[in-house]
Amino acid sequence: MSSNLSFGNLEVVRKWINECPKNSFFIVDSKVSSLYIQLFGDHLNMVEVEAGEQLKSMIEYERTVNSLLKLKVDRQSHLIAVGGGTVSDLTGFVASTLFRGVDWSVVPTTLLGMVDAAIGGKTAINLPQGKNLLGAFHFPQNIIIGPEFIDTLELQDIESGLGEVIKYAFLDKNIFNILLEKGLCQETIQACATYKECIISKDPLDKGVRKTLNLGHSWGHALEKEFSLPHGIAVLLGMKLLFKMEEQSENLEKLNILVQHFKLSPLKLDIGSNLDSILSYLFTDKKRDGEKISFVLPSGKSILKTYAASSSFLSSVGKSIEL
Ligand code: NAD
Repeated sequence: MSSNLSFGNLEVVRKWINECPKNSFFIVDSKVSSLYIQLFGDHLNMVEVEAGEQLKSMIEYERTVNSLLKLKVDRQSHLIAVGGGTVSDLTGFVASTLFRGVDWSVVPTTLLGMVDAAIGGKTAINLPQGKNLLGAFHFPQNIIIGPEFIDTLELQDIESGLGEVIKYAFLDKNIFNILLEKGLCQETIQACATYKECIISKDPLDKGVRKTLNLGHSWGHALEKEFSLPHGIAVLLGMKLLFKMEEQSENLEKLNILVQHFKLSPLKLDIGSNLDSILSYLFTDKKRDGEKISFVLPSGKSILKTYAASSSFLSSVGKSIEL
């Protein structure tokens, strides 16, 4: 249940793609295929998709499967996702279900994909009721990380990836130090990806230590949905809400230091006026345990909370949250 994780420059990625056998089927972010056309050589089995949260839907799932069937995909085929987290989540989910499961690999092209989404075998699409509600564990065979891809990302996608990178700084002191000393560089990306892969190898199916990687995600998913935020920014704000809720002033301070270090764009959200819908979303999340929500802390400890009384919640965290 583990994957081969490798790192290299774009030439290494190009060679890897060109050496893929003929029964490989590429599911590629259309933006990436136009920016990096030289990577794909004469591979003909390519399905281009429009990245974004809308890609992780039943309709896009069906469209992608139809395109693959037209190209004569079969049980021995190998699917290869080339794109960010939405492309790898969809491709992995298609791979987990098509013919009851085919092999797949991933070339992540966003920062968030490299440090998080491509690693760990969690594949999913969304339902109107909530994020990632239909999914499966299906581990990619290969994860080929080319940090140079981030050079063409928009600022908001860099900042979203940084949200997850900053999360790791709360789980691993070494990553915190690398981040402050070296900023965002190949070494940081490699440290985060390797950290995640190491946790996954200890707990592939999310029964124990892997849950620490969900830091900030309970609130994060609710904020992401309510305010249509990029995933990593929502996770960052989710951590901030958690630290406020638990009165963890040291962690709040550490978060502020990192946010300032990376000069993340300022953002202020009015959670007071949207609280009912944020809370109702929180209760559709997978981290629910009966009437209680499970939140993981940086220490690895999990806590269970009930939020029937929204006013008591607001008095502990305030009516707005900002970066
Ligand atoms: P994304 O796939 O939508 O990519 C963000 C944007 O970057 C898109 O516009 C895309 O076209 C563009 N892009 C991709 N590569 C590019 C490149 N090299 N140059 C220029 N533009 C490029 O989003 P994302 O932020 O990568 O991923 C978010 C998704 O990942 C969410 O759905 C989240 O739930 C999921 N996720 C999954 C896991 C997991 O374990 N499976 C973990 C974390 C996040």
